[in-house]
Amino acid sequence: MEETLEIFDAHAHLNEFEDLPSAIERARAAGVIGIVAVGMDMASNLRTLEIAGQYPGYVFPALGYHPWNILESMIDENLAFFETHIDRCIAIGEVGLDYKIKVRKPLQQHVLREVARLAARSGKPLILHSRLSHERVFSIVKETGVRRAVFHWYSGPLDLLGNIVTEGYLVSATPAAATSPAHQAAIRNAPLENILLETDCPVPYGAVASEPRDVTRTLSEVARIKNLRVDVVARQTTMNARAFFKLLKQASDEGLR
Ligand SMILES: [Zn+2]
Repeated sequence: MEETLEIFDAHAHLNEFEDLPSAIERARAAGVIGIVAVGMDMASNLRTLEIAGQYPGYVFPALGYHPWNILESMIDENLAFFETHIDRCIAIGEVGLDYKIKVRKPLQQHVLREVARLAARSGKPLILHSRLSHERVFSIVKETGVRRAVFHWYSGPLDLLGNIVTEGYLVSATPAAATSPAHQAAIRNAPLENILLETDCPVPYGAVASEPRDVTRTLSEVARIKNLRVDVVARQTTMNARAFFKLLKQASDEGLR
């Protein structure tokens, strides 16, 4: 019996697409029932809100301030933007720490701490970027009392993964699960109940830019790594996404009509 899979892309940069309507159409055809669109700065946040308005019940907006985009002179303005637009998003992200880049670490930590406090206060989940900074991201998020957080594309240490899971936080898988040993190890060790599927599109895996439908690639890699049936992985991770982002089933179903 052929079952239609319902899958959810928990992390996409839809503001970067030139022909978004076509990508959305292909995503729907592939069984993608919802997409979380993340922002990185004020311009992409505004565009993300606009896109979500065009696809109600299908594209869900998250407001972010990515470490790559942090400019000291713009921090206050970006934080103020969060305060005034928090009611319009389902999550805060993409935010986090990236210790591979030149933006000063204290500045990055200041921004993450402020948005984490806002997440704790508003009850919104956090979508976290962490590169060479996994422990620090975890400690800031935990200390500020954030209850829901997803460590996007987690490829960090496995002992910290244990703490992430114990804390009830999630990790998300990307199509890099096909090739990245560190990412594969994280997916193998994380319980399925703590995993979301995503694409981080339009990040290319191989030569071609990805798009939301490529969450099907993430699905098959997670199923392969965990030695589970794809329908089992699809059902559980979509359930995880609905609970994590507090999306009612009905809202997603309406989005399909
Ligand atoms: Zn991203």
